[in-house]
Amino acid sequence: MVNKIIVAIDGYSSCGKSTIAKALAKYAGYTYVDTGAMYRAIALYTLHHHLTEEADIIAALPAIQVGFVLVDGAQHVTLNGEDIESQIRTLEVGNAASRVSAIKEVRAFLVAQQQKMGLEKGIVMDGRDIGTVVFPQAELKLFLTATPEVRAQRRYDELLEKGQTPDFSAVLADVNDRDYRDTHRAESPLRQAEDAIVIDNSNLTPDEQMKVIYGLFDKIINLKS
Ligand code: C5P
Repeated sequence: MVNKIIVAIDGYSSCGKSTIAKALAKYAGYTYVDTGAMYRAIALYTLHHHLTEEADIIAALPAIQVGFVLVDGAQHVTLNGEDIESQIRTLEVGNAASRVSAIKEVRAFLVAQQQKMGLEKGIVMDGRDIGTVVFPQAELKLFLTATPEVRAQRRYDELLEKGQTPDFSAVLADVNDRDYRDTHRAESPLRQAEDAIVIDNSNLTPDEQMKVIYGLFDKIINLKS
């Protein structure tokens, strides 16, 4: 369809990017791609194979296949064909993902795959560099933010729900560390694209936020038709 667009959603960790991206993809009838899950898949591989040296991680890339499968309508990430969704949403894997994502070759490896996924448009992709590097031509770019405390509380609640026993101050420290690493790395640091629309959702309910986002999407689609 001529009218299909690319939606790029970037922002800090635990800003609700994936919830928003999933909801918008459903609303639009688009494909959702969680690029954080792709970095987490590589991170899990490095943890399983005890790879810590950058050169060893780069050398392993040809042996790593990251993909997605639909399980009961939900997207699960796969690593060399194995569904690893239940293993990647931990602080340990999140931190390892933040570290492997600083490696230039890892980014090039995943960015090429992400760009292929967007060839036919009709995609909502979330991450850190989608509007700046993966799809600088995206028709709609959103940059999400919320205070570190609000984000730490969300992550804390999520971990509790998953049966883990987190410590709030450790979660907050982790949010701050991850922000620092994501914004200070040499390769594609997290930054707002000049043409991105910033949404601070610290004080927005999910419904209020989605209303704003659906409105932005509809406006672009209407302008194109
Ligand atoms: O979004 P999520 O927390 O799953 O991402 C895990 C880590 O992967 C992030 O902290 C970030 O360092 C990295 N990442 C990235 N570029 C993306 C998506 C995620 O560097 N497009």
